Amino acid sequence: MAYPIKLSAPIFKGNESTYIQKAIQSGNLATFGEFIDQFEYKIGALTKTHQAVALNSGTSALHLGMVLLGVGRGDEVICQSFTFCASANPIIYLGATPIFVDSERDTWNMSPELLEDAILNRIAYGKKPKAIVVVHLFGMPAKMNEIMEIARKYNIPVLEDAAEAVGSQYEGKYCGTMGDLGVYSFNGNKIITSGGGGALISNNAFLLQKAQYLSMQAREDLPYYQHLEIGFNYRMNNLSAAVGVAQLEMLQEAVENRRQINQNYRKLLANMPGIAFQNNNELSASNFWLTTILIDEKVTGFSNDQLRIKLMKNGIETRFLWKPLHMQPVFRGIQFFGGNVSKNLFQSGICLPSSTDLTFEQQTRIVELIHDELAKSFK
Ligand SMILES: *Cc1c(COP(=O)(O)O)cnc(C)c1O
Repeated sequence: MAYPIKLSAPIFKGNESTYIQKAIQSGNLATFGEFIDQFEYKIGALTKTHQAVALNSGTSALHLGMVLLGVGRGDEVICQSFTFCASANPIIYLGATPIFVDSERDTWNMSPELLEDAILNRIAYGKKPKAIVVVHLFGMPAKMNEIMEIARKYNIPVLEDAAEAVGSQYEGKYCGTMGDLGVYSFNGNKIITSGGGGALISNNAFLLQKAQYLSMQAREDLPYYQHLEIGFNYRMNNLSAAVGVAQLEMLQEAVENRRQINQNYRKLLANMPGIAFQNNNELSASNFWLTTILIDEKVTGFSNDQLRIKLMKNGIETRFLWKPLHMQPVFRGIQFFGGNVSKNLFQSGICLPSSTDLTFEQQTRIVELIHDELAKSFK
């Protein structure tokens, strides 16, 4: 169904067309070209501390990140359960086993306490985890101080899935720069897009050089094609990078707009009982990629699904929160440390339209419909 009001629509009102034309005129549409270099430079400049390798998706960045951290057959990797499947799928690609960890209530991301429980349990079984995948869900930074402290204590590397958190900060540091490696996604409905794309970021130039090499089929620098390792075809192309560079130019504006949209929802829904938000704490500044709310059905008299259907009938797209991976049929039987936190979030939450160019009038309309639903429940 085509919705007049989308969950998270891309906007192209900058230099996208100009740069695409330039890329075509340059003759470089594939994995070489000025826009790939510019794209990487701009991401590095944004973080100030890190460098980037441009890849063709966030999923390939996660996969390469795990390869670089040495994840292989028979290993175990701890992964936040409350996330999109792409955070965990590369663990399976590598013949390793995920161990899922539940969220805490404050940020909805990986619980540091449960992370330590999981590590201690696996060490007791002689299976020290090879890596930890932590996610900044919907743009909200996880409790990175606590998580990094535990990871350092047990000397386990951290891969930061910041696919949804481009532009989010924690203690003034950009998400993706606090772990050993960070991942961004520039897929179609993320805060900015390159059509499809991703990046692996690090302050370790050696690791990034290796990532770039592996992303281009591990081709040796020789006049003929010679390979010492199995590589991947994961490099970003110059055409995507052209779009990505133009989008990076308006990242700050996109972050400001989405934060404003979040503020507006908070104000407009402030007097509604039974509605709660995902909140920043004193250390965190979410990009608010998506504004998400929790609905306490016992108070509101309607469920997240009833609201989804009501808004859908009015041409408004919403989405459930991610279904935790430990509840996914495909991951049945995988070990899980935790209780009902992510399950409850999934069962009561809904993502509201959060496109960068969503207007205040559209937001008012959405909130009116939520009020109608509430009024109906109390008739
Ligand atoms: C989108 C997303 C990814 C994957 O990125 P793609 O570019 O779509 O491959 C990974 N993790 C999370 C949390 C995401 O939201």
